Amino acid sequence: MLGLLYPKEYLDSFKELTPKKIKAIGAKTVIFDIDNTLVPYWVKTPTPEIISYFEALKSEGIDVAVLSNSRKERSEIFCRGLSIPYVWKAKKPFKKGFSRLVNKLSIDPAKCIIVGDQIFTDVLLGNLRGVYSVLVKKVNKKDELVTAVKRPLEKIVLFFYLRSKKNE
Ligand SMILES: [Mg+2]
Repeated sequence: MLGLLYPKEYLDSFKELTPKKIKAIGAKTVIFDIDNTLVPYWVKTPTPEIISYFEALKSEGIDVAVLSNSRKERSEIFCRGLSIPYVWKAKKPFKKGFSRLVNKLSIDPAKCIIVGDQIFTDVLLGNLRGVYSVLVKKVNKKDELVTAVKRPLEKIVLFFYLRSKKNE
């Protein structure tokens, strides 16, 4: 039961997900969360580092997409210059937004990686839909209230997750 909340991998940053690693996982598409995964929620546009990271993935034939629970304008402004597909108000961990993305891109969930900073949205969605789930440490300590309330529960899950890794 707890296993549904465990990420396949737990990384310090999305940057650790290199093209080589993505290919080794066997994925063709990487689906990113925005807030606290790529940038803090108050940063409106992608950093030069993110832009070149996405370019590096694309040049290796890896597709990039964004699946965000945020409002339309947030995703729109963030993704504007990136020329990547995105879905806003995705309602992760529910499947509606995810299905919209899957249908839009005609992708196979089994060949995707989902990257996010939250267990109860990003990781759970990935695990429920057969997508390789990668949890990353949040880029900033500050959370929006709606997220902050979930963090103590995440800590409990992470405790059991890290303990299960130790016992592997
Ligand atoms: Mg997030």
